[in-house]
Amino acid sequence: DCDHDCYHTRELKQMPQVILAGSEGAAGMAAAVDALRRGARALDVVESSIRPVELDPNVRSVGVGGWPNLLGQVELDACIMDGKGLRSGAVGALQGYLHPISVARQVMERLPHVFLAGQGAARFAAECGAESGPLLTEQSRREWQAWLDEHVPEAQRSRWPEAPLAEWARLTADPIKVHGTTITLVKDGDGDIGAGVSTSGWAFKYPGRLGDSPVIGAGCYADNRYGAAACMGQGELTIRAGTARAIILYLKMGLTLRQACDEALNDLRALARIYEGSVTVHAIDAQGDYYVVAVGDRETAAYWLWTEGMPAAERRLSVVEPW
Ligand code: ASP
Repeated sequence: DCDHDCYHTRELKQMPQVILAGSEGAAGMAAAVDALRRGARALDVVESSIRPVELDPNVRSVGVGGWPNLLGQVELDACIMDGKGLRSGAVGALQGYLHPISVARQVMERLPHVFLAGQGAARFAAECGAESGPLLTEQSRREWQAWLDEHVPEAQRSRWPEAPLAEWARLTADPIKVHGTTITLVKDGDGDIGAGVSTSGWAFKYPGRLGDSPVIGAGCYADNRYGAAACMGQGELTIRAGTARAIILYLKMGLTLRQACDEALNDLRALARIYEGSVTVHAIDAQGDYYVVAVGDRETAAYWLWTEGMPAAERRLSVVEPW
C-alpha cells in the first residue's frame, strides 16, 4: 500500500540479506540463519533469535540469570522495531516473564501504545499468555548478596529493603564489567529491516531504572529506508545522545555507515560522564552493509554476522576506539 511504499522499494529487494547480532547473541544465530534462508521475515528472525538468549542462564545480562537490581529483583528491558512503517514495541522493568522481546512484540502488535513499564507491562504479559518463570538464578542471588555484604554496612543492610537506596545506586557494580545486552539486526529478502534488543540492564541498579534498550531511538532503531542500529553498554549515555536514531539520521544525511557510527561516537564523547563506561554500536544499512564499533571497551568487542553466501554465522571482532 502507498503508506509503506517509501519504506519498501524495489531496489532494496536486490540487496543482500544480513543478520548482525551482538556478542551475547550466539545461542540464537544458527536458527536465525536457517529461518532467514527459508524466507522468514526480518521481524520474526529478530524475535526468534533473541528468545534462546533470554533463556540461557549463562548470559548474565539478559533474561533468566540476568543481573538483579539493588533489591535482588531481576527487571528486564526489551524493544523491537519494524523498519517498515517504523512500528515499535517496548517493555521496561518487567519482572517475572521469560521473554520480554516477545512481550515487546505483542505491545507493538496488539496495543495502540509503544512502551509499557513495570506492573502494567507484567499485567499485559499475563493477558497475552506470555511464559512466566523465575529469573533470579541461585548464582545471581549469591553474587547480589555478596555485593551487598561487601558494600553496604550492616546497619543499613538490616533495614533492607526499606533503607534509602540512592547512595548505593551510585556505588553500583562497575558498569564497565557488569553489562551486556543482546541485539539482533536483520535485513530480509524483501528489503525489510528489523531490530530487537533485550537486557537485564546494569547489575544492582536502582529499582525502576530503565536503560537505553527499551527506549526507541536510544538503544534501538530501524528504518527500511536507511538501516538499523542498536547499542550495548552504558545506556545513560546513549539515552542522552539518542544514539540509535542519530546513526539513522546521519545515514539519511548522506554519511556512509562507518561515518554515521563515528559521528554518533563523537556525540557520546561530548557528554559529561560519571563512569569511564563503554558503548558498542551495531548498525546495518539498507544496502546490506554492516559495522560494529566499541568505544572504551575491550571485553565485549565481538559480534555475530551472517550475510548471504556465508555457510554459517561467524564471530567477528569489532573495531575498538578510545574515548
Ligand atoms: N545498555 C544496557 C543498559 O544500559 C545494558 C548494557 O548493555 O550494558 O541497561
